[in-house]
Amino acid sequence: MRKPYIYGNWKMNLDMHGSSDLISSILSVKIDYTKVDVGVAPDFSSLYKVSQTIKQMGYPISVAAQNISAEEKGAFTGDVSAAMVFAAGADSTILGHSERRMIFAEGDELINQKVKTALRNNLDVILCVGETLDERESGVAADRVVYQVGMGLKDIGMDRINRVTLAYEPVWAIGTGKTATPADAEDIHGKIRTQLSKMYGPVVAEKIRILYGGSVKPDNVSALMMRENIDGALVGGASLDATSFAKLVNFNG
Ligand code: PEP
Repeated sequence: MRKPYIYGNWKMNLDMHGSSDLISSILSVKIDYTKVDVGVAPDFSSLYKVSQTIKQMGYPISVAAQNISAEEKGAFTGDVSAAMVFAAGADSTILGHSERRMIFAEGDELINQKVKTALRNNLDVILCVGETLDERESGVAADRVVYQVGMGLKDIGMDRINRVTLAYEPVWAIGTGKTATPADAEDIHGKIRTQLSKMYGPVVAEKIRILYGGSVKPDNVSALMMRENIDGALVGGASLDATSFAKLVNFNG
C-alpha cells in the first residue's frame, strides 16, 4: 500500500514573505501525517525560510527545489546547485517539469544528468513526465511518457530508485483548468508502472509513487486518488491557497 503524497509546486509566484505566510498557514491546518505525506516546492530564495519554519514546528513536510543545475559547481552564472539547495534545507527537487522542458528547452538527457546530480547530493527526486496536446491527439501519449521515464531514470540503479517519485503531468492540463479524466490518467499511470516494472522488477515498481499533476483541485482530487495507480498529486495553482491545499491534503476526510 503506497502512502498518498500531496506536493505543492509554488512556481515563481511568491517571494520569501509570501512563502513564509503560506507555509505558516499550512502548518496551522490539522493534517494527519500518518495518513498522508506532504511537500512544498518554494522558489530558491524562499527555501531556507520555509524549511526553517517547518523544522521549528517539527512537522514532517518535505521541501523541494523546483529545479537544480546538472553541474556540481563552478562558472555557471545564474544556476543553483544541488548542494546549495540541500544546504538551504531542501530534501528533494522537482526535475523535468514541463515548464523546464518547454520554456527552457530541457531535454531528456539533461534531465537524466540532473536526476543523477540530485541523488548524488542527498536530494530525493520528483521526476515529471507528460505528453503535449499534439502528442495526445496523434495517439503517442503513452509512448512519449514511457520514453521519458526510461530516459529520465537511465543508469539509476536499484540502490537509488526508492528515492524517486514520478509525476505524470499532461502538458495540456497544466494551469489550463483541463484535467485528464481519472480513467485517462490511470491508463498512463499503469503504463508508467509497467515500464518501472521492466526496469526494476514488479516488487520495486509497486513501491514507487506516481503522482498526477494538471489542474488538480479540491473538487477533482478524490476521484483521481481512488484510482489504483494514482498515488498523489503535484499541484500548482491550488497549492497557493492554504485552504484549498489543506482540502487536497485532507482529500480522504
Ligand atoms: C504543475 O505545475 O505542476 C501543475 C500541475 O500546475 P496546476 O496544478 O496549476 O495545473
